[in-house]
This record gives sequence, structure tokens and C-alpha cells, in this order.
Amino acid sequence: MVIIRGATTVAADTKEEIRKGVAELLDQIINRNSLTKEQILSIVFSSTSDIHSYYPAKAAREAGYAGCSLFSAMEPEIDGGLALCIRVMLFVEKELTPHHVYLRGAKVLRKDLTSIYNIAIDGPAGSGKSTVAKQIAKDFGILHLDTGAMYRACAVKVLEAGVSPDDEAGIINVMRDVRLDVEYENGRQKTLLDGRDVSEEIRLPHVSLAASAVSRHPSVRMHLVEKQREIAAKMSCVLDGRDIGTVVLPDADFKFFLTASPEVRAKRRYDELVAKGHTVDLEQLKEEIVLRDEQDSTRAIAPLKRADDAILVDTSEMTAEQVVAFVEGKMQEKI
Ligand code: C5P
Repeated sequence: MVIIRGATTVAADTKEEIRKGVAELLDQIINRNSLTKEQILSIVFSSTSDIHSYYPAKAAREAGYAGCSLFSAMEPEIDGGLALCIRVMLFVEKELTPHHVYLRGAKVLRKDLTSIYNIAIDGPAGSGKSTVAKQIAKDFGILHLDTGAMYRACAVKVLEAGVSPDDEAGIINVMRDVRLDVEYENGRQKTLLDGRDVSEEIRLPHVSLAASAVSRHPSVRMHLVEKQREIAAKMSCVLDGRDIGTVVLPDADFKFFLTASPEVRAKRRYDELVAKGHTVDLEQLKEEIVLRDEQDSTRAIAPLKRADDAILVDTSEMTAEQVVAFVEGKMQEKI
């Protein structure tokens, strides 16, 4: 037997909203776990004490979940807890790795159980880190810090200064008076180099390789890691990078390491750049990705590596939505 968890919030304490919320939650749980209703042994609901108008168990029966035992209970009122929230546990007769489902306001981690928390998402280029981190930040109402953008901005500075990425002394010099800031506009990270917005420019392929070359220098890493830790100490955020779980925040509350085959990763980057109107060559992108993997994983300091306690997710065959649902489910499971 396996237990699957889920939760949702409803728009109002009305019979209609409760029926709608319960049906949506249960339907998503059975879809995401490829279950049939007959495989459900029992469903246990708990709801916050501001839900009075209808029993979730009754709503489940009316939504077609009538062949199993159903139970509803009310939770005590907790300071800082979610409002209008229905939680559920499904006891299922099937061997599977459960996908827990959190919808609407219930995607936010329970405030009474969490204060400032950090999520580390590491992995190679094109593994989906940024896309997934962005969505998680949106769902949880927290900050997304794209640390790769910071290394990319340093690379732009080094390139503009005409310094070779191999020239350690030259790089130390450049790093002495670099001003790097991240700002947020409608939740989107803007990367500023000496006050100039370089958010678009840093995405160009030649900057990717330069970032990888520049990021192996201790002077660059020390500068950026300190900045990243400062931000993460102040507020809950999801950071994506290469060394977040191993070096920047070894005590991060949640750690994930995403991977995917080089072919899939190159294709993702290709689609991204083409959508932005750039002309790029898929084979060349693949070569660049393989070269960056090699540089990033073999460098002496903070190499690209999965932290022992990070959850490994191979995203090759998964859509971004599936990865987000998996990661969020794992987080909810842990608290
Ligand atoms: O993630 P993104 O592809 O934007 O990163 C660009 C480069 O910056 C990487 O190839 C890597 O060399 C470097 N980087 C790093 N540590 C991080 C994030 C990025 O060394 N935390």
C-alpha cells in the first residue's frame, strides 16, 4: 500500500467551491499517479477550521469517489497557517512512487512550519534548472536567484576589458572594481553590470563559454559566493547554479540536482535562443554544452557535482511542469 498526499485551497467557504476544489484535487492526484478510482482504498481529508459549508468527504463521493472509505476531519486553528485549505491522504493499492499534488494556495509551504528557507537547484547547462526554479519561486512567492547570470555578467566584464579568461592576474584586476547587482522587476531577475542591464546580452553563446572559463578563478567565485550567501540569508529563495548545494549553501533546506542527456539539453537551449530571434547551430550548441560540462565538472574549485543529500532528477523525458510538480511534491513531503 502507498500513501499519496495532496492539498488545495478553495476560493470561498461555499458548497460549490468545496466540491470544485475536492474534485480537481482528487482528479489531479489520480491522473498524475496513473491510478484508477478502484485502486483507492481510502481517502482521508482534513480541512482548516474556516471551512464549514460542506464535508470534503461528501464532495468526494459526489465527484465519483464512492467505492472507498471516506473520512473528513477539521484541523485546529494555527497561527500563520493557510486559510481555506483542504488536505488529503489517499491510501492506494498499487506499488508506485507517489506524486504528491499541491494546488493553488497550498503550493506555498506552511508558514507555521517554515521560516526563511532556501532551495538549491544544481545541474549542468540546459538541465532545466532555471525554468523550474522560476516556476517554484512563483508558486511559493519567494525569490529566484539565477547564479549563472552573475558568472555570465562577470564574463561580459572580462571580455569587455580585453582580458583573457586564462589570465588570473588580469581577472583579479577586473574583479577589483566590478559592480554586480541583481534587481527584480515583476519577479524577473535583472542582472546589472556596473549599473547597466546586461540580462539579454549574457545569454549569447560566446558569453556562456567565457562564463564557464571565468568561473574557475577563485577571485570570481569568492566575490559571487559571498553575494549569493548574503541574499539567501535575508529571505527565502530558490537558487540555481552548479555549486549551491555543495559550496554556497551546504545546509540548504532542500536540494535537487537536475540532469538530462546532452542532446536534450542542446535542443532546449536551441529552442530558447531561436524563440528569442537568434540564429544558432544545434550541433555547435551541443559541442558548447559538452565542453562546458567538461570544464565545469573538472575545475579545481566548486566543480559541478551533486551534493550527497541532493535529490537527483533526470529531466530528459519530463516536461517542465512534471519536474516542477515532482520537486514541489518532494518539498511538501519533507516538511
Ligand atoms: O547556469 P548558466 O548556464 O547560466 O551558467 C553559466 C556558467 O557559469 C556555467 O557554465 C558555470 O561555469 C558558471 N556557474 C558556476 N557556478 C554557479 C553558476 C554558474 O560556476 N553557481
